Amino acid sequence: MIAVLVITGLALAIGAMLSVIHHHTGNNTETLSDSINRLLPQTQCAQCGYPGCRPYADAIAADEAPINQCPPGGTHTIEQLAGLLGREVIPLNSTFGETKPDAVAFIDEMTCIGCTLCIHACPVDAILGAGKFMHTVIASECTGCELCLPPCPVDCITLLPVTRSVATS
Ligand code: SF4
Ligand code: SF4
Ligand code: SF4
Repeated sequence: MIAVLVITGLALAIGAMLSVIHHHTGNNTETLSDSINRLLPQTQCAQCGYPGCRPYADAIAADEAPINQCPPGGTHTIEQLAGLLGREVIPLNSTFGETKPDAVAFIDEMTCIGCTLCIHACPVDAILGAGKFMHTVIASECTGCELCLPPCPVDCITLLPVTRSVATS
């Protein structure tokens, strides 16, 4: 019985020590690319010329890409990246696109033929549906990246502006 109590006590003590060590070292494992990636919008729209936010973050961290190629992030993201990297704030390179108002995709379910092409195009799994069944967009997951629009053979997906409620004090 005493042996069991001693072993249990030792296990708890070791667990507590590991927890403290993890707490003190956990944040140190974040790379520069991780920090850059956290500042990117995560729409995964590929407008920056890279297949997603993480590859663009990797390219910036490796000094292979400038900080002004993300249209969804626009000036705000450029300012954040400049602050993180100690660089000058530069204008968005408009050859990669323009910053647009927030929007969310909407599927006209009466027109949808259930081809599933939009599901495969969506980088954030915001579309629900199955073959031959109508599809619908989970608005809270949709980033408005527009990647589902071109593949739709019946043009039944439109982007609607997102209206935000403004808190008043
Ligand atoms: S353009 Fe911006 S939001 Fe789109 S994938 Fe590139 S970094 Fe991400
Ligand atoms: S539903 Fe369309 S617009 Fe919304 S995130 Fe997916 S691909 Fe982008
Ligand atoms: S691509 Fe268009 S028609 Fe095909 S499932 Fe999506 S919304 Fe429906």
